[in-house]
Amino acid sequence: MDVITTPAAAPLLANHPAVRHVIVYDKRGRDNGPLGFWRLVRRIRASAYTDAYLAQGSSRSGLLAAIGGVKRRVGFDTSAGSFWYTERSRYRREQHHAERLWRLAVGHDVASGSSAAIRPRLYPGEVERAAVAALIRHAPDDGAPMLALAPGSIWGTKRWPYFAALAARLSPLYRLVVVGAASDRPLADEIAKAAGPERVLDATGQLSLLASAELIGRCAAIVTNDSAPLHLASAVGTPTVALFGPTVPAFGFGPLAPRNAIAEFAGLPCRPCDSHGPMSCPLGHFSCMVDLDVQHVFDAVISVTAA
Ligand code: SF4
Repeated sequence: MDVITTPAAAPLLANHPAVRHVIVYDKRGRDNGPLGFWRLVRRIRASAYTDAYLAQGSSRSGLLAAIGGVKRRVGFDTSAGSFWYTERSRYRREQHHAERLWRLAVGHDVASGSSAAIRPRLYPGEVERAAVAALIRHAPDDGAPMLALAPGSIWGTKRWPYFAALAARLSPLYRLVVVGAASDRPLADEIAKAAGPERVLDATGQLSLLASAELIGRCAAIVTNDSAPLHLASAVGTPTVALFGPTVPAFGFGPLAPRNAIAEFAGLPCRPCDSHGPMSCPLGHFSCMVDLDVQHVFDAVISVTAA
């Protein structure tokens, strides 16, 4: 199987046993404009693909497959690019997105009771193991298990505001590792201040996404907002406490790690208020997150880490 993807996502597919070639389409950079698009069309034509699975759903990717000469083009019936498809898979809102993708690729639902089949997988390799080893080599190690915290999100209302307080509760039990982008460093600083710098390793901005998956895979559990680390944890099977505020797991992007727990303010009438999560609460009270208390999340950590 060959995969066409963005420069940001391409490294995640390294070492994947089912992927032959990763074709990077940098539509905002070197492949910008009609010339870049045409280069890709020529590459698709030269490869003589017979089938294309268009999970991303844009008109551009549908057009690319069509004029690239791919005979069978399968995508979701709700996609912007569905005009270009030869087969349309029903986008079932009630399903997890991994189930929707399974259906898109296989043509039928996954058999009930085999949810492990839909769990995504990532394959960190030697490069990622070495990067993580270098990062943790100098961190204090008293033998306590590591626990990952992912306090960031690009969407303001998806950020649970009590990670530092939770870290203070968890630090007697775990060595804490903060994962995220470089922009999450101030959140990592707050956590280190609350829990004690000797109990916190700040990995923000220091690892690739695939190396972050490797690090998360070494942790006893992760506490994460509804953001990328949740999905990295699902892919490496790390027990997950997922915090949902303005969004809900029913959108289809909840955790798939074998042991997981959702922490949310169920029953709050304004939830969900947005498909992503607005930058600030449109009602001003931000109850979905500020009323999700530390004890509740702490108990969820204990439940997913219990043997
Ligand atoms: S409107 Fe409700 S769900 Fe949306 S951010 Fe505010 S409290 Fe959260």
